[in-house]
Amino acid sequence: MRAILLWGMLLLVGGVITDANARSIAVTGDMPAATVQDRMAFYEDPDAQLSFERLRARAPELMQQADAMPTGLGFSRSAYWVSIELHNPSSEPVSAFVRQDYPLIDHLSVWMPDGTGGYQHWETGDRTPYDTRPIAVRDFVFPFTLAPGSTQTAYLRFKSDGPINLGLSVVSAPALLNITSSEQLLFGAYYGGFLVLVFYNLILFLAVKDSAYVYYMVYVVAYGFYMSVHNGLAFQYLWPGSPWAANQSLLLLLGISLLFGLHFSRVVCSTRRWSPGLDRVAVVLLVTTAALLLVTPFVAYQYLILAYSLLTVLVCVTILVLGTLSWLKGSVPARYFMVAWIGLMVSVLIYMGKQFGFFPHNFFTQNSFQMGSLVEMVLLSLALGARVNEMQKLGFSDALTGLANRRKFDQVLPLELEKWHQSKSSFALLVMDIDHFKRINDEHGHAVGDKVLAALGQLLRKNVRRPSLACRFGGEEFVLLLPGAGAEQAMGLAERLRVLVSTKPLAEVNVTVSIGVAVCDSFAMTRSGALFEAADTALYAAKQAGRNQCLLYELPTEERRLVEAV
Ligand code: GH3
Ligand code: MG
Ligand code: MG
Repeated sequence: MRAILLWGMLLLVGGVITDANARSIAVTGDMPAATVQDRMAFYEDPDAQLSFERLRARAPELMQQADAMPTGLGFSRSAYWVSIELHNPSSEPVSAFVRQDYPLIDHLSVWMPDGTGGYQHWETGDRTPYDTRPIAVRDFVFPFTLAPGSTQTAYLRFKSDGPINLGLSVVSAPALLNITSSEQLLFGAYYGGFLVLVFYNLILFLAVKDSAYVYYMVYVVAYGFYMSVHNGLAFQYLWPGSPWAANQSLLLLLGISLLFGLHFSRVVCSTRRWSPGLDRVAVVLLVTTAALLLVTPFVAYQYLILAYSLLTVLVCVTILVLGTLSWLKGSVPARYFMVAWIGLMVSVLIYMGKQFGFFPHNFFTQNSFQMGSLVEMVLLSLALGARVNEMQKLGFSDALTGLANRRKFDQVLPLELEKWHQSKSSFALLVMDIDHFKRINDEHGHAVGDKVLAALGQLLRKNVRRPSLACRFGGEEFVLLLPGAGAEQAMGLAERLRVLVSTKPLAEVNVTVSIGVAVCDSFAMTRSGALFEAADTALYAAKQAGRNQCLLYELPTEERRLVEAV
């Protein structure tokens, strides 16, 4: 039963579609944009030889009604003919426009009704100078006029080395003005966003002097220009007299984007540090891209486009892999970097899917790439910021042990003492020194000594939690800052660490440590260096008393009396 119903419906729908009148587009002077994708007729001319006169003569036989016409036709050597039946239902002449919103068509030949039963003809496309277009807009807009009550067919012929996308609509003048002004607003926002990013990062570069910003800026500028070529604005405003630039610039700018995008990625993700093997692959790709860029001005578009497509895929995969590796190895900038790239990749996949005919050509698929790229640029700028942070941190950490270094200690100690001054909460300092480390070096070698230091660093990182801070003071000496800790707490931690070290070998060597503890309990201690001296004195005493022990610094009795008297 249901099947019969379905058949009936199909027949009904089929009947409507094959009806010639339903195919024609009713044109009025104030009609909104009407897509013609499901109402045009279509012919693929494989040798691209057919003339307009011959096609018109054989149109009923050649032109097929395209019920499910794909909007993206991909790469092809054929010429594609499209016809659109236009009808004027009114008793006045009517004028409107046919718009093709994908601007990168090499050769576009157009025959539009002229209102007297004849045709007005244009030979244009982005292989001819910009002024061959009847209306100066970034894409293609062709006017036509229909006599009262008449029906006439408009013809368009597409031929291109690049992918062919059909984005055809019929639109009245007021609706077209409306659409283009909203689009211009969006383009303005997009390029405005790019400009802000470039200037913002230029200022940051002047402040930070990190060359990664330069790579980023070149990448952003090339990419922004690439986009402007892509949506036809560059041809309109930058080089209207040069069809060569309109076509070749697309490849040149793509090449520059790939080159600087890849190099920027290497730098931000510190690929040479995290994965030297992959870094070599990236360098090979960089050299290949540079070589391709050098020949680009001299080789025809159709030979280059495949090389560029292949290279784009390789570069993107490399960037994704190097970003993932750096992320896994703990790089913070790589996190921002990867979110940025995955976002862009998704938008590129949508766009490529459209280019090769898997997705329909519409505003979203045509511009997904563009939106994705702006979001990417913002996130990459954040990755740069994270990189500066990371470099700063690197300057304050010790490479062997992964602890904070002496520089960090010198910076933090005065701050902590200042805090103590204000709050009078307790504060303690531990100085730890490995016992007979010279002997360890002598017996096992310097390399094993280093491993012992690294293992001790790991132990300290695991057992000393924020707000406490463990630093490598130098050699085999470590200091621990313990904000909020009193004598009892500090001695408790010192003893726990001493036991931890002595009960488990570090890098397969039995090691012990001595620890001196001092607590900030009077103004005398806040004098610069006094607290450290006190802890060091206690450490010396611990060494004297036989090592492998913890000692708390006690003020000598006379001094204590003095302090209490104040
Ligand atoms: P103690 O502290 O118990 O009095 O004896 P010690 O042997 O540890 O004393 P000292 O401070 O005189 O010797 C420290 C040694 O640590 C000297 C130096 O060769 C070694 N050392 C310092 N820095 C490093 C390092 O980065 N790696 C290695 N392997 N050894 C280091
Ligand atoms: Mg020592
Ligand atoms: Mg020492």
